[in-house]
Amino acid sequence: MGEVKRIAVLGAGGLGRNMAKLLDKKTEMRLVAICDKGGYAFDPNGIPSAKIDALSAEESVATISGIGVRCGDAIGELLKRRDQIDGVFLALPNLPNEFLPSVVERMAKEGFRGVMVDALKRTRAVELMVKLNDLLAANKITYITGAGATPGLLTAAAALAAQSFVEIESVEIWFGVGIANWDAYKATIREDIAHLEGFSVEKVAAMSDEEIENELEKRNGILELVNMEHADDVILELAGVVSRDKVKVGGVVDTRSPKKPVSTTMKLTGITFEGKRSTHVFTLGDETSMAANVNGPALGYMKAGFWYHSKGLHGVFTSATVMPLWPH
Ligand code: NAD
Repeated sequence: MGEVKRIAVLGAGGLGRNMAKLLDKKTEMRLVAICDKGGYAFDPNGIPSAKIDALSAEESVATISGIGVRCGDAIGELLKRRDQIDGVFLALPNLPNEFLPSVVERMAKEGFRGVMVDALKRTRAVELMVKLNDLLAANKITYITGAGATPGLLTAAAALAAQSFVEIESVEIWFGVGIANWDAYKATIREDIAHLEGFSVEKVAAMSDEEIENELEKRNGILELVNMEHADDVILELAGVVSRDKVKVGGVVDTRSPKKPVSTTMKLTGITFEGKRSTHVFTLGDETSMAANVNGPALGYMKAGFWYHSKGLHGVFTSATVMPLWPH
């Protein structure tokens, strides 16, 4: 792989902080920058996750002594250091749908020229990201969208499973997520509530934390989600695997226990060239956390992104058109 890749993580919530811990275990990649609403921390020699772990959930990475800087536009400040950043992982909330696409557009226009990976979930958000293809290609950015767990790992599994068949009838994703406390993953839980009947992305963005807590209380901390507007559909359609109406995503989120309420599965049903109907099932180990299943693939796609970038392949790719590589 050559030089150690210098990674910036935008967002220091549940996913961002766990990404710092995962990067501790990697030798090919190093965390050099992380930011949140309060500011950023930057150290070209690497930021050990222990420095971030020492902060409470409310404390900003801007308060890390020696390397933290308080500011109102952390993304803008990190962009000034773009020549010292090779890869960016977006762990920002995406409320509204246009937010992350607007951040990416800004980064391209302000001169970032490396690899970017997101863990976007909504169909509409991925559609907006795909539209940035020409801008990102022109600015020599290699971008992989939908590169978390679902979409991400499970979408890639569907694209792989499809190879046994000549016709795909359905893809069904059913996920189980257990988190001890919703506070650790505020954006994820807000975005999940947006899928419930009577809610929308706009509505949850305007709700206070107390209102979110009341909604969770009404449901004993359990969110059951069906027929979600999830980007696995558009990603598999763009990859030519199956039309989006044949992809169904749902699951159960327990916001009061780290134990998964149900196992996560991806079931792809198709017809073989001999005319046999069959179903491939991919099941995640129950012990694996959401953070492991989102951030692991995100780094795998990041490594693949570096390889594409080194070959001069730029623009927007998806988790179903790129095989993630495994970073050491
Ligand atoms: P979170 O709410 O815990 O943290 C968000 C972080 O972003 C916070 O540190 C906040 O300060 C920071 N932030 C917000 N606006 C900012 C700004 N303008 N500038 C700088 N920093 C800013 O979020 P989370 O629960 O870790 O989720 C992050 C994203 O990951 C969500 O969009 C979620 O949908 C996505 N996600 C994807 C998957 C998947 O499988 N694809 C799974 C889980 C989460």
